[in-house]
Amino acid sequence: MVSEESSAAGLYVHIPFCRSRCAYCDFCSVTDTGLIERFLDALCTEIDACPKEFERFDTIYMGGGTPSLLSLRQIKALLEKIYHAFLVLPDSEITIEVNPADWGRDDLVALRDLGINRISVGVQSLDEKELVFLGRRHSSRQAMRTMEDAVVAGFTNMSVDLIYGLPGQTFSRWQDSLAGVLRFGPAHLSCYELELKPHTPLGLQYERGELEPRTEDSLRDFFMRTSLFLEDAGYLHYEISSFAAGMDKASRHNRKYWDHTPYLGLGPSAHSFRGGRRWWNHSSLIDYLRDLSAARQPVSGSEDLDQGQLRLEAWFLGLRTRKGIDLQQYRRRFCCDLLEEKGPLLKEWETAGLVEIADGFIRPTRAGMAVADSLALL
Ligand code: SF4
Repeated sequence: MVSEESSAAGLYVHIPFCRSRCAYCDFCSVTDTGLIERFLDALCTEIDACPKEFERFDTIYMGGGTPSLLSLRQIKALLEKIYHAFLVLPDSEITIEVNPADWGRDDLVALRDLGINRISVGVQSLDEKELVFLGRRHSSRQAMRTMEDAVVAGFTNMSVDLIYGLPGQTFSRWQDSLAGVLRFGPAHLSCYELELKPHTPLGLQYERGELEPRTEDSLRDFFMRTSLFLEDAGYLHYEISSFAAGMDKASRHNRKYWDHTPYLGLGPSAHSFRGGRRWWNHSSLIDYLRDLSAARQPVSGSEDLDQGQLRLEAWFLGLRTRKGIDLQQYRRRFCCDLLEEKGPLLKEWETAGLVEIADGFIRPTRAGMAVADSLALL
């Protein structure tokens, strides 16, 4: 845990547009790209009206949705607006998510020229059939070309998103995607387990009994073998879904979510956090646009977390990261000794090989991270 007030904050900008909807996705986005200009105007209004207590940022993350549906002119104007409104520190991490169907090499070079220094490519799989199953609108050839273009354009900090645990997927097929991606030397990989979420096309297929979900045991097996495979390839498994080629390549932005550093979220569905308070914008683009056109903050809800809730979150989030929980910081922050409070339970986990307790930290092992969400409930 860091001292939240002393750290530079993270800025997230949600671009809520997708050309088409993927079969597994429940993120906030619409396919009516005719609304992009109106949205960008509203976003500028939101930036002008947003809380002034965020003094400085050292990360900007443009996510979605699909930021690569914006033109380079629109991205340039958005960044200029942000730099004008906020203090963005030198050497900030500036990330943009890219769909492989959208941008070519020249566009990626232009992004670098705009100061964007981290690219997150939504590859998901390099298997054509899996891409069709997931409802992705790009081919594996396009994904490989985008990764290659990113490297040639000078993105030394490239992250790649992948999804595993598809029904019927073998580990060897998953490993082929992983190995195919590693050929491009990404600095970072995010490997997510496929979730069959309600109201998505795959979730509905599951509810109708047309899809056989994987068992927990088989998903845990994928998790463990993925972790071993990528660690053998030189990556550090530093958070449940995240792998980095060294801690300097870990996502500076995402780490703010995990250690209660303040962050400001702009755009529909974006969440913000500061000083124990969390708030979030409307997830409907229409509600978001309506509030901003009426000079209202597009906030749909908020919660004030008391010390007990923050403590629970610190426990839950700490068990998801390899860094684990810093016992001294925890004691300073919450005036309680975790070893005294949960001593017998932690001993049990240590004996079972789920955590390591050493050097003033409680750290989940690989096996512990595989079950971190259930551990946190105990
Ligand atoms: S996964 Fe990404 S590209 Fe696909 S619908 Fe969701 S936000 Fe859009």
